[in-house]
Amino acid sequence: MTSLPLHLLPATSTVDDDGVLCVGGLRVPDLAATFGTPLFVYDEVHLRRRCREAVDAFGHQRAVYATKAFLCKAMARLAYEEGMLLDVASGGEMHVALAAGVPADALTLHGNNKSLDELRMALHEGVRYVVVDSDEELDRLEMLHREGLPVPRVVLRVTPGVHAHTHEYISTGQDDSKFGFNLANGAAAAAVDRARRSSAVELVGVHSHIGSNVFAVDSFARAAEVMARFAEPLELPELVLGGGLGVPYVGGEEAPTLTEWGRVVLDACRSMGVTARVSVEPGRSIVAAAAITVYTVGVVKHLPGVRTYVAVDGGMSDNPRPVLYGSGYEAFAPDRVLDPRAGRARVVGKHCESGDVLVFDAAVPDGLRAGDLLATPVTGAYGHSMASNYNKLTRPPVVFVRDGDARLVVRRENYEDLLRCDLD
Ligand SMILES: *Cc1c(COP(=O)(O)O)cnc(C)c1O
Repeated sequence: MTSLPLHLLPATSTVDDDGVLCVGGLRVPDLAATFGTPLFVYDEVHLRRRCREAVDAFGHQRAVYATKAFLCKAMARLAYEEGMLLDVASGGEMHVALAAGVPADALTLHGNNKSLDELRMALHEGVRYVVVDSDEELDRLEMLHREGLPVPRVVLRVTPGVHAHTHEYISTGQDDSKFGFNLANGAAAAAVDRARRSSAVELVGVHSHIGSNVFAVDSFARAAEVMARFAEPLELPELVLGGGLGVPYVGGEEAPTLTEWGRVVLDACRSMGVTARVSVEPGRSIVAAAAITVYTVGVVKHLPGVRTYVAVDGGMSDNPRPVLYGSGYEAFAPDRVLDPRAGRARVVGKHCESGDVLVFDAAVPDGLRAGDLLATPVTGAYGHSMASNYNKLTRPPVVFVRDGDARLVVRRENYEDLLRCDLD
């Protein structure tokens, strides 16, 4: 099978009689002509459905959108409107969420090394809770208490010793981790004691997050059991079980749905007699499949007996995941979606690095040439949010499409933006 697995496309995708992909009722080549390439196209209906599915599975304000997966004002507002809370992992993410009009008490603050300023901002704004990651952070919160800032509700991040089967760089629950208080060596219990005795914080719960892009729901069930065993005797009101649900990126991959994830996690909690309010923090599973990235091909280089390179007008600056994790993607021509993809090519970007790869070994339609559009599906998570200005490329715009309307929610950067911080 060389044709594009259509289930990887955003929810409202349809194919016109002439083979052109439509998302949100709009033809993708028209979007490329209007907004230029590279372009992130997000299906707003898809985003809203995933948010609602998470809320249905876990409850109103028990599904906390992990904004680091994809954040702009429109996304923050959308997730909040659909009944999610927002998890921010830096002062910058907090600033964007607040600028979007999301109330501070819908925000939870994460991070393994929050600065005094970030914590001060969180306490001053009045976030719902701070997820405390270290003793130094408790020291900082005590310092802020002495400054007279309000006493924050805090949740302690615990590393439960559960190994999620995913890429090492995004596996966070094992004992050897920079995150949180270790359960096995007693650090977690000691942190609970300290937080309970401190007048600078109000301890309301414990938290774990075992990693990202996890496909095996039993990893989540095991983490839930370990955390429940630790948390129940503490009789705290909140148990936060993190995010990390995986998504299929290429044909042949399958992941549990948010609904299935919810069933497994909540069943595990129920069977452990958990009475705390259980919440989770999905990021990728909300946004990844909602978007495609549309590029224009600039060079097709055939190396006989070696391979074919297809160079597009973006690259590792708009999607660093292949470089970081060796992640796989599909590629397709959005103006001939149903064509067989009989060719093979390495899809690369325009950066000055041999490692600048978007798809290592892609099935592509025959006869690709300069000027053609090429798109990658499932780029809604950790693409735009990890984008950089490497080689001083301007970061692509983000357009939300819905019911025949295209709404530009992040404009393309321009050369002036590249000089915004230069002083002379
Ligand atoms: C990254 C992260 C998430 C979201 O992970 P996804 O894989 O995008 O679902 C949730 N919670 C914490 C603490 C995280 O660091």
